[in-house]
Amino acid sequence: MADVDVLVVGAGPVGLTAAAELRRHGVECRIVDALPAPQHYAKAVGIQPRTMEVWDSMGLIREALDEAGPLFGQLAFVDGKPGPRMELRLPPEIPYAFAALPQYTTERLLTEHLARFGTTVERETALHAVEQHPDRVEATARSRTGAGGPRTRWRSPAARRHRRLRAPLTDARPGVRRRSGTAPGGRPAVLRWRRS
Ligand SMILES: Cc1cc2nc3c(=O)[nH]c(=O)nc-3n(C[C@H](O)[C@H](O)[C@H](O)COP(=O)(O)OP(=O)(O)OC[C@H]3O[C@@H](n4cnc5c(N)ncnc54)[C@H](O)[C@@H]3O)c2cc1C
Repeated sequence: MADVDVLVVGAGPVGLTAAAELRRHGVECRIVDALPAPQHYAKAVGIQPRTMEVWDSMGLIREALDEAGPLFGQLAFVDGKPGPRMELRLPPEIPYAFAALPQYTTERLLTEHLARFGTTVERETALHAVEQHPDRVEATARSRTGAGGPRTRWRSPAARRHRRLRAPLTDARPGVRRRSGTAPGGRPAVLRWRRS
C-alpha cells in the first residue's frame, strides 16, 4: 500500500485544477482517471472572466489566451428556431472578458501545466472504495485489467498530517505570507492565510 498526501479522483477540469494547485503549493498528490484517454468532445465551452483571473494566478493565462476565442454572447435555438439571445458585455474595468475554449483544450492545457510539476494523470484507474479510519483514509482503485485484475491501495495518514498543519494555521494572522512550494521556472508559490 502506497502513502500519498492527497489522491485526486477524476482528471476533468476540477481534478486537474486541484492537483495543479496542490503541487504548486508544495503538496504531494496523485491523480487518477477511469478513462483511458481524455474525452474528444466538449461539454464546457464558455469560460468566465473569474476563471481567467484564477488561471492568471496559477500561471496559465498566457496559454489559455493563446488558444481561446472571444465570446460575445449566446443564441439559444428551440425546436430549430432562434430563441433567447444573451449579450455578454462587461464593464471595462473587468480585467478579462468571456472566452470560448472547448473543454478538451482546457483539460489539455491543465494536464500540460500539471506535468511541469512532474505529475501525470494515471489513467484507466477507477476509484472503487474509500474507507475512513481514525488515523487515515484508505482508497482502493481498480486498474485497466478490470474487476478481477490488480488493485491499487493508497493510504493517506490524514489525522497525523492535520496535527502538523493545525499549528501554523492557528497562528495565522491577516496578511501572513508563507512560502510553501515552488512554481514552474523556480518561482516561489506563496500561500496567504487569513483568520476569518
Ligand atoms: C452540455 C454541457 C454544456 C456545458 N457547458 C459549460 C460551459 O459552457 N461552461 C462551463 O463552465 N461549464 C459548462 N458545463 C459544465 C462543465 O462541463 C462541468 O462543470 C465540468 O465538466 C465539471 O468538471 P469536473 O472535473 O468536475 O467533472 P468532469 O468533467 O465530468 O470530469 C470528471 C472526471 O472524473 C472521472 N471519474 C469519474 N468517476 C471516477 C472514478 N470513480 N474513478 C476515477 N475517475 C473517475 C471521469 O472519467 C472524468 O474524466 C457544461 C456541461 C454540459 C453537460
